[in-house]
Amino acid sequence: MLDFRLSDEQKMFQQLARDFAQNEIAPAALVLDQKATWEERVPTDLLRQGSALGFRTFALAEENGGTGMSDLLTSCLIAEELGAGDIGTAYYFMLTARRARDWFELRATPEQQAYFLPKFLNDDLYHMTVAAHEPDTDLAYDYLVDTPAEARFRTTAVEQADGSWIINGAKNYQTIGYTAKLLLVMAHTESGPQSFLLESDADGLVRHPMSKIGRRVGDNAEIFFDNVRVPPGRILPPGEPGRHDTGTVGVIAAMSLGLARAAYEEALKFVQERQTGGKVLYRHQATALALADMSTGIEYARLLIWKAAWAKDHPEAQENGMDPRLLELQAAMNVGEVVQKVIVRAMELFGGAGVISGMPIEKFARDSFVQFHVSFPTSNRLRIAESILGFKRGISPLMPL
Ligand SMILES: Cc1cc2nc3c(=O)[nH]c(=O)nc-3n(C[C@H](O)[C@H](O)[C@H](O)COP(=O)(O)OP(=O)(O)OC[C@H]3O[C@@H](n4cnc5c(N)ncnc54)[C@H](O)[C@@H]3O)c2cc1C
Repeated sequence: MLDFRLSDEQKMFQQLARDFAQNEIAPAALVLDQKATWEERVPTDLLRQGSALGFRTFALAEENGGTGMSDLLTSCLIAEELGAGDIGTAYYFMLTARRARDWFELRATPEQQAYFLPKFLNDDLYHMTVAAHEPDTDLAYDYLVDTPAEARFRTTAVEQADGSWIINGAKNYQTIGYTAKLLLVMAHTESGPQSFLLESDADGLVRHPMSKIGRRVGDNAEIFFDNVRVPPGRILPPGEPGRHDTGTVGVIAAMSLGLARAAYEEALKFVQERQTGGKVLYRHQATALALADMSTGIEYARLLIWKAAWAKDHPEAQENGMDPRLLELQAAMNVGEVVQKVIVRAMELFGGAGVISGMPIEKFARDSFVQFHVSFPTSNRLRIAESILGFKRGISPLMPL
């Protein structure tokens, strides 16, 4: 039943992303990665170019300024290619593209769509972040037990007489958190958690950049809300019950896959150039084994990502026993491990050159640690176990997504 034949449009997007990634993103990545300040590491020129090519907007319907390619598989194809160029740059496009589709088309009220969509379409540097994680909150992510009824975000939103809301609290680690022009802020109200659409020029919104060991191209932030006012009508409605998430889990997995592929391709070049003992490296059988392991891991990771995306794009797959949500978690967890294993093998093949600063493989190694973290190796495994065991929470976890 699975059918991975790509349409002409999908192949076209894949090629467009590959050309942009290899010709524009990859040559700039190492230089950006080495810049001292976070401002210099934001790939502004590439973001403008990629936006002009449609990488922010492609997942929207044509009448909303996109191309109608809202399926997750197309997004995963693009994500792998951009991720192979530079994972930090890829994040801007992929998170924003999926969120634009989810927020502006599937969830927004007509008024929210009329207000935000033109702003989004008319600004090449308009990106979005989700501010969920908090420094001090137990987000009720305990597994195989019910979420405690008293679990709360510490960030609060209080309704005012005029229908506006005042937010107070703090979030940290947000991807694109410093430059995002729109933030989806999760906060507790009297009646439970809600997602607020907050524009970045709000008074009382304070953002501090956070520097990471890897995926250094781009920005992360910790964010403080000091009596930040959100106008009336800016609560983003939750998705329909039973729907799947925005697709960001799938595209993050696919970007990690792109990173693994880039490391593998770099190693492949190296073993064909470097000579030891009178022959090129790959002619030593032990080194060739590493290539086989790497390529198999990558192929397996891609298969699982595509299968998860395909199942999500084809609701009838569920009638045939496929659970897209479970597949997506498995794909995300698996690629986190694959990317690490591929990098370790690649570093081994590079010998001493693998640990020298400024080599592409060194950057990939640092990037891979961040991608390992965001594959959420513990929590995704526990979610997978919940899914297999059919565990259903009486009270949902806090995310009002
Ligand atoms: C680069 C980066 C980008 C991020 N981007 C965003 C973003 O855009 N938006 C956002 O809202 N957040 C973002 N985050 C936050 C991210 O979601 C959190 O890092 C993640 O949820 C883990 O939380 P923590 O770091 O507080 O770890 P902790 O919760 O402190 O966990 C520490 C360790 O304990 C384990 N652990 C914790 N609870 C349990 C449990 N119940 N059972 C078993 N083991 C447990 C964890 O698995 C981990 O190994 C980002 C983080 C990073 C590093």
